[in-house]
Amino acid sequence: MVSRVQDRSTVVTGAGKGIGRTIARVFAAEGARVLVSDLDLAAARATVALIEEDGGQAVACQADVSKRADAEAMIGEAMSHFGSVDILVANAGIFPSATIENMSEAEWDRVMSVNLKGVFFCVKSVAWAMRRQQSGRILLTSSITGPMTGFPGWAHYGASKAGMLGFMRSAALEYARDNVTINAVLPGNIRTEGLKDVGPEYLRRMEASIPMGYLGEPEDVAWAMLFLASEEARYITGQTLVVDGGQTLPESALALD
Ligand code: NAD
Repeated sequence: MVSRVQDRSTVVTGAGKGIGRTIARVFAAEGARVLVSDLDLAAARATVALIEEDGGQAVACQADVSKRADAEAMIGEAMSHFGSVDILVANAGIFPSATIENMSEAEWDRVMSVNLKGVFFCVKSVAWAMRRQQSGRILLTSSITGPMTGFPGWAHYGASKAGMLGFMRSAALEYARDNVTINAVLPGNIRTEGLKDVGPEYLRRMEASIPMGYLGEPEDVAWAMLFLASEEARYITGQTLVVDGGQTLPESALALD
């Protein structure tokens, strides 16, 4: 079978660690040529080293997605290395916690700048080229938090993750005639490096709230992205795919007994 993203030029933001790193590795393992982009260049380089160890093709790039010039330069770099950008995975995101009473305007603005304006800048930087080549796949890492659920301390984060879906639906219409699709994956609780610090009791309680009984792995998000990037998903645009082990299904705790 022909690999789904074989030779496709792919840009992944926030790919220096966590879910983004795994998306970059999974796409590269499927034959994609990947621009591994992150605010932290050393982290991006470490991801590239892992991809190269696995025999894949990747290039590291430093970019702050909240800066328009960085987003444009990042797409320019992918073009000059690979000749085109076929797939953009806008994954970079931050999730600082602050209750509304303690949240400063600066904290609100920072979360919106990275998570929401960053998506706008990355999509704006690449979509004209996808329109010109009459093909492209844009994938967003949203979250269940915001679009489907809430969590105290994440009002700004939830607003940014829900906001990107509003952006996505209009963007999907603007590019539908150009064979450019834009879809979002909504992860639940995914086991990333950041979770090492939360402790076993917190993890046990989190697992107890998930019908499937365990946290997701970054690969679960990457595989959903891989499908949405594939030729087989050509007729899907403006949609969301929830990857949460059933976490958003129970109408009450009784459903988990
Ligand atoms: P992470 O903190 O492990 O990795 C995020 C990466 O993004 C880091 O390498 C960081 O350097 C980079 N980054 C931060 N700000 C940036 C900026 N301004 N420009 C470019 N890169 C920047 O996070 P993660 O858990 O892998 O999360 C990745 C995405 O998945 C985020 O959008 C997050 O909101 C979303 N998400 C995560 C989970 C989860 O359980 N981990 C659940 C739902 C959604």
